[in-house]
Amino acid sequence: KHSGVDDMVLLSKITEEAIVENLKKRYINSTLITYIGPVLISVNPFKQMPYFGDKEIEMYQGAAQYENPPHIYALADNMYRNMIIDRENQCVIISGESGAGKTVAAKYIMGYISRVSGVNTTRDLTSLSQVPSQHVKDIILQSNPLLEAFGNAKTVRNNNSSRFGKYFEIQFSPGGEPNGGKISNFLLEKSRVVMRNPGERSFHIFYQLIEGASAEQKTNLGITSLDYYQYLNQSGSYKVDDINDKKDFQETLHAMNVIGIFPDERAMVLQIVAGILHVGNINFKESERKDVKIRTLVVTKFDCYTNGINQDRLKEKLTSRKMDSKWGGKSESINVTLNVEQACYTRDALSKALHARLFDYLVESINKAMQKDHEEINIGVLDIYGFEIFQKNGFEQFCINFVNEKLQQIFIELTLKAEQEEYVQEGIRWTPIEYFNNKIVCDLIENVKNPPGIMSILDDVCATMHATGEGADQTLLQKLQMQIRTHEHFNSWNQGFIIHHYAGKVSYDIDGFCERNRDVLFTDLIELMQSSQIAFIQALFSESLQAEKKGRPTTASSKIKKQANDLVSTLMKCTPHYIRCIKPNETKKPHDWEESRVKHQVEYLGLKENIRVRRAGYAYRRMFRKFLQRYAILTKETWPSWKGDEKQGVLHLLKSVNVDSDQYQLGKTKVFIKAPESVSTPWEHMASR
Ligand code: ADP
Ligand code: MG
Repeated sequence: KHSGVDDMVLLSKITEEAIVENLKKRYINSTLITYIGPVLISVNPFKQMPYFGDKEIEMYQGAAQYENPPHIYALADNMYRNMIIDRENQCVIISGESGAGKTVAAKYIMGYISRVSGVNTTRDLTSLSQVPSQHVKDIILQSNPLLEAFGNAKTVRNNNSSRFGKYFEIQFSPGGEPNGGKISNFLLEKSRVVMRNPGERSFHIFYQLIEGASAEQKTNLGITSLDYYQYLNQSGSYKVDDINDKKDFQETLHAMNVIGIFPDERAMVLQIVAGILHVGNINFKESERKDVKIRTLVVTKFDCYTNGINQDRLKEKLTSRKMDSKWGGKSESINVTLNVEQACYTRDALSKALHARLFDYLVESINKAMQKDHEEINIGVLDIYGFEIFQKNGFEQFCINFVNEKLQQIFIELTLKAEQEEYVQEGIRWTPIEYFNNKIVCDLIENVKNPPGIMSILDDVCATMHATGEGADQTLLQKLQMQIRTHEHFNSWNQGFIIHHYAGKVSYDIDGFCERNRDVLFTDLIELMQSSQIAFIQALFSESLQAEKKGRPTTASSKIKKQANDLVSTLMKCTPHYIRCIKPNETKKPHDWEESRVKHQVEYLGLKENIRVRRAGYAYRRMFRKFLQRYAILTKETWPSWKGDEKQGVLHLLKSVNVDSDQYQLGKTKVFIKAPESVSTPWEHMASR
C-alpha cells in the first residue's frame, strides 16, 4: 500500500537525494515514520493522522518491528518491553528543529506507555483511583498542559513552541507499573516575558489568564485586557490559530489540581502571573535632577497588592541600587540612583526572575507528586529544543546549540563510533565508514583549558570585569579572537563570532553575552522579594545572600554546561532510542514539501552515514549469557539452562532456528546479528511477547 521503503537500510542507492526522495514519497502518502533500523525518522505532517487510536495501541503491543508499519508506538513498545525483560533503563532522544514535531512525538510516547503499562487498566473506574500507578499516570499526562502553559509560546516557527527543554523520567516497578517520575528542565527562555520578535507571543499563561479568568478573579487581580499590558502589546500578537486560551486556562487549573497544588497556592501562582504584567506596566521618567521617577503610579497599587510588597520599598528598589564601593581599603555600600534605562532593566530582571522561579516551582511540585523513595528502572524521554539559526543569534542560541551539539555527540558516540569500536574489540570482520565527529566543536565550546574553550573565556571575563555594557562584551570578543583564532570551526567578525556547528555555520552577536552569562539578580531585588508579606513569594526567593557573595558566582553558561554533561551521563547509562524529526516546510501547512529544507536536515542529521553504518553492521548484539537466557525456551538443550560453553550454546540456538550463517558473527563475548527483523525467525517475535 505504501510507496517508498519502510526502512531506509533497504534503499538501493544510499545518497542524500535518494533519502529525500523516499521521505517525499512517504510524505505524499501520509506516512509519518520511516526507519533506519531502530532509529525513527519522523516528518511532521501538519495534520491530524488517523492512526493514533485504540486499535493501534492494541496492534503494537508486544509486536515485533517488522510485523506492523513503522510507528512511534513501535518504538515506545520496544522501550517498555526491553526495560522489563533486560532490566535496563531506556531513553529516547528526540531531536530536530523548532516545529519539527518533537513535543508531539514525546506526548505520543508518554501516552502510549501510560496506556499499556501497569496491570489494572481494565478494572472498573471507581477503583482505579486507588491504584497508585493510575495516579502517577495522571500526573505524567497532566504535567504536559501545565508546563506548556508556563513554558510554551507562539513563535514565528511554531504556534506551540517549547521554550524550555525537558528530560522526563518515568519510573517503574520491576513488574512494569509506573510508580514514580522525575522531570529535569533546561534553559527556560525567560527573556520572552519582557521581549520577543514581532508576531510572537509571550508564554501562553498570560493570555490564558486574561481570557479565561472569571470576572471576580479579574477584579481581585486587577487585570483588564491583553492590549493594556506592555509585556503583551509590544509584539502585536494576541490570538493564535488552533489555540483556545480560555479553554486551556481551565485545563491549566485542572492540571494544577491533579498535581496536588492546593487552592491557595494555585491562587498565588495566578497572582504572580498577574503581578508580572503589572510590573511590566511600571514606567519611568527622568526628573529635573536627572534621576528617575516612577511615572505610572496607577498600577503600582496592584503590583504591591499582588506581590505583598511595600510600595515605597518597591519604588526605591526599582530606581536605585546598592553598590559596593571601595574607598581607601574600606568597603562600604552606597545607594546609586539609576537612570531610566537602568530602571527598566531592573524592572525586567525582576519580572524574568519571577516567571523563571514560578516555573521551577511548578516543576518541583510535579516532581514531589511523583517522587518515590528508591529508583528501580526507568524510561526517559528527552524533548529539548532543537538547533537554532536566526538572523541575529545571541547568548541563548549559543547555549541551545551547544546542548544540541552534545546530543549529536551522544548519537555519534553510540551509533557510529561505539559501533565501529565494538567490532574491532570483538574481532568482527568489518569495513570502516567515514563520518564527521563533532567532538571538536563540543571542545571548542566547553574545554576548560589547553586550550580554553569559549565558555571558559567568557567566565573569565565575567569574573574579572563589571560585566555589563559593551565594554565587557568587546573585551570578550578580543580575548576570543586572540585565544581561539586558529580553530577550524571558529571565526570572528567585528560584532561577534562564528561557530561552524555540525548543523551549519552560526554567527553570534557578542552583544549581551557577558550580562546574560552573569545572570545575577541584584541583591536588592532578592531582598525586596524576601520582604514580601506573602510566604509563597518569600519562598521563591529563599536563597541565602551571604553564600552568594563568596567565590565565583555560578554563571548561566557554567550551569548549562553542567546540566548538559549530567544529562549526557544519564543518557549514556540507558539503552538509547532515537527519533529524528524533520520539518518539511516553513508554512506549517500539510502537503507542502520544501525540498532544499528537507535535504539540509537530512544532511546535518547525518542520515546517510547512519544508513551506511547500519547496513554494514550488525543491528542486534548481546552478551552470550544474556542471549542464552533470553532465548533459552527455543530449544530443549538450552532450556532451562545451557550446560557448557556459552559461545557454543549461542551457536546451537542460532542453528536450530535456521539463521543463515552470513547473517551473524560470534565475537569474543557477544553475538552479532545483522537484522533480526529481516531474518524470518520466530524467536525475536516470540521472546518479545
Ligand atoms: P517541536 O516540539 O519540534 O518544536 P511540535 O511537536 O510542537 O514541534 O510540533 C509543531 C506543530 O506541528 C504541532 O503543534 C502540530 O500542529 C504539528 N505536528 C507535529 N507533529 C505532528 C503529528 N505527529 N501529527 C500531527 N501534527 C503534528
Ligand atoms: Mg517542542
